[in-house]
Amino acid sequence: MNKLKNYFRQNKVTIMVIPKSQKSIKQWHFNLAIAFSILILLILANLALLTTTVTTRLHSIILTTQNSTLNKNMIIKEDQLQSLESINNLRLEEITVLKTSLEDTLTYVNSRLIEMDAVNQNVSQLVSMFNQETSSNISVPISRSFDRFINTSTDGLIPEEDALLSQLADLIANDEISKLILEQGNEYSELITTLQSQITYLECRPDLYPTQGKLTSPFGFRRDPVTGKTASHKGIDLANATGTNVYTAGDGIVIFAGWNGSFGNVIIINHGYGYKTVYAHLNELKASKGSTVTKGQLIGTMGSSGKSTGTHLHFEVRFNDTQINPLNILKEK
Ligand SMILES: [Zn+2]
Repeated sequence: MNKLKNYFRQNKVTIMVIPKSQKSIKQWHFNLAIAFSILILLILANLALLTTTVTTRLHSIILTTQNSTLNKNMIIKEDQLQSLESINNLRLEEITVLKTSLEDTLTYVNSRLIEMDAVNQNVSQLVSMFNQETSSNISVPISRSFDRFINTSTDGLIPEEDALLSQLADLIANDEISKLILEQGNEYSELITTLQSQITYLECRPDLYPTQGKLTSPFGFRRDPVTGKTASHKGIDLANATGTNVYTAGDGIVIFAGWNGSFGNVIIINHGYGYKTVYAHLNELKASKGSTVTKGQLIGTMGSSGKSTGTHLHFEVRFNDTQINPLNILKEK
């Protein structure tokens, strides 16, 4: 050990600096121990510098990586933003299409409702004509007009078009159009039922003159042409040539067809609604019991059978089995 110490002390190192100019040469003498220490220090300093450099480099690499990741993320975000924008644009287009479609629907519904109104007016006119013609009193269906629902006047806060669209949307949402159609449909169904029953009634009502002939004896009290006594005449007598056609006064069912004492050959028809008609003193019977007959159908010919003084038709109208004046029900010829 001492040997090594001596070696370091005795051996010296000289560092010389030789300038390029004429200046004197500078030199320093160190013993080996100091020189070695300086060398070690220099190596250590270098190592420290290297470590710092490497660390900095590493940081730099990490930062670059992070930066690149951030960049990538930013690009992704930008893409997402773009795609959201395009989705938004699509939605806007869809909304425009829907609005147009709603407007078309509104136009369609409006025109259908106008047509419905026109139909209703026509029906009203027809019903009123029917009432006049037949002395009926059928009520006209209520118009389920769209005015009830669609009101174009707005308070000015929202554009008229938007107000209409919103109303239409409400109508669709509440299914008001279906309700309207259903209500109107029910009105028409009721009307049709009423008209049908009224038509049936009118067809059955014995108001058609049963034959062509001269009214020779009215309804009511008169001197009986056979007995000479004053008696009530329960019908009217219409006189014409033997074989003149006799028709039904209304739709009905033949409840009697045959011989009946003073009536001779007689047909009795039940018309329903409390009405029955009697066709007496017939020459020929052209309908049989139980058959259904329609107004104006040929059922026999005029004759003088039974208690009769000449060829004529004795015609009776019975309402609830009581004779009424046929002239009060027969329509003018
Ligand atoms: Zn008579």
